[in-house]
Amino acid sequence: MGGLPDNRSFCEEVKVKSGQPIDLCFHCQKCSSGCSMARFSDYTPNQILRFVQMGMKDKVLQSSMIWICSSCEICGARCANGIKMSEVMDALKEIAIEENVIKEKNIFSFHDTFIKTVAFRGRVHELAMMGIYKLRSRDLFSDVDLGIKLFLKSKLPLLGSGVKNKKRLNLAFKRSADKSCKEALYKCSN
Ligand code: SF4
Ligand code: SF4
Repeated sequence: MGGLPDNRSFCEEVKVKSGQPIDLCFHCQKCSSGCSMARFSDYTPNQILRFVQMGMKDKVLQSSMIWICSSCEICGARCANGIKMSEVMDALKEIAIEENVIKEKNIFSFHDTFIKTVAFRGRVHELAMMGIYKLRSRDLFSDVDLGIKLFLKSKLPLLGSGVKNKKRLNLAFKRSADKSCKEALYKCSN
């Protein structure tokens, strides 16, 4: 009796954050059969959705699938109910970060480093990003030969470039951080 409200509240939270009609999923598995990342993961996309519907928060947050999803959106194109799993995975990543349950720490570091370098000047600076990521992941020596090849071909400029209008950049980041925008959209469509 005590578990049901919590289970529902987790599912509701994911629906609000993702804006996706999770209840409509009837587990036809079309998303999972088209997902190129599912074979590298512990669960398939529709299994993740089933866990969300059942309120199995711990199982979902500890899954590698929510981090391995590459947001290719193939699943969304195949779903008869228009459910975009990439949005659901993003919502689950947000919750996992808020609760500090991060199964794939290097993937999180990569995402976070990418966003921070873009937020700094509006464009990614690959060399800086790679350096920071390597330090954060403590994986200093893998891909060094590839990095040298790219550097010698001038694919990794020493000095990157930035956008001119930093104010608009800051505004875009501020808006994307405003969770109430997503929640308002979800409420309007339901
Ligand atoms: S394709 Fe859509 S309805 Fe089918 S399992 Fe995936 S999310 Fe559910
Ligand atoms: S968006 Fe994610 S879950 Fe959907 S097919 Fe692509 S990798 Fe798989």
